[in-house]
Amino acid sequence: MADSASEVDQSKPSIARVYDYLLGGKDNFAADRVIGDHFKVELPGSVAIAYTNRAVLTRAVRDIALTTGIRQFIDMGSGLPTADNVHQVAQRHHPGSRVVYVDNDPIVLAHGRALLEENEYTCVIQADVREPEAIRNHPDTVDLIDFEQPVAVILSAILHHVNDEEDPGAIVRYWREQVPSGSHFFISHFRSGGNPETAEAEAMLQGTFGRGRWRTDEEIHALFDGLEILDPGVATCMAWRPDPTDGLSHIGAAHREPTVWEQLIVAGLARKP
Ligand code: SAM
Repeated sequence: MADSASEVDQSKPSIARVYDYLLGGKDNFAADRVIGDHFKVELPGSVAIAYTNRAVLTRAVRDIALTTGIRQFIDMGSGLPTADNVHQVAQRHHPGSRVVYVDNDPIVLAHGRALLEENEYTCVIQADVREPEAIRNHPDTVDLIDFEQPVAVILSAILHHVNDEEDPGAIVRYWREQVPSGSHFFISHFRSGGNPETAEAEAMLQGTFGRGRWRTDEEIHALFDGLEILDPGVATCMAWRPDPTDGLSHIGAAHREPTVWEQLIVAGLARKP
């Protein structure tokens, strides 16, 4: 396999690196910071979308680990390693939990391999979420995941990077058919505000990355087709099972209503009946 670090193109912004920059990470280049600064400066408040999304992912993985008996996760569009990654949260509660990370950005593979070198229950594969069969049949997936046992399928802040013609619903359906009853699906997604700021942010995503789609509540609910959505339903990331002690305590997230920006990203956890 080619050296993934050498495939990284520093001259073009990447979704993974812009997100890393917004979360305060160091794995980004000048082209990423230009886009990140646009969000920070021109659309103030929008950065909370990244923070509240990352925090709800951590809470959802914790709840899956603690309450469902699931010990295997596939994290699609996993992004660059940050403070609390899925395997760290899951393995904190159950050390043998297995995690397959999937991302199409070579920088994720390069950093992920370094992080996971000594973790025999975790791997990172470079693949496209729009080609689920290649992910399902990848030797590392086949090695780590037992598809006879329930699986947690994590689709955190990834399906809004899949355009309508690429059919994000078909991606969820594919995985729904691969996993047994009792499997769980976590989805977080940009929710359309129908206002000039979200229209600007959407145009920015499309213009910069060639894709990106803010969806309505109805469109996001439709992604959970055939699954039982668990409490509290599809809610803003801020309001989804808030925890006053988590990484958002510095913004008092558990004790107040979401701002306009914070209402523009929602999350839900569902179970395959
Ligand atoms: N899932 C993490 C989270 O919620 O904190 C990271 C989300 S980040 C906004 C989106 C990630 O999806 C990036 O790392 C990007 O490289 C990845 N991504 C975008 N399109 C993808 C695709 N078609 N296939 C696989 N990964 C993709």
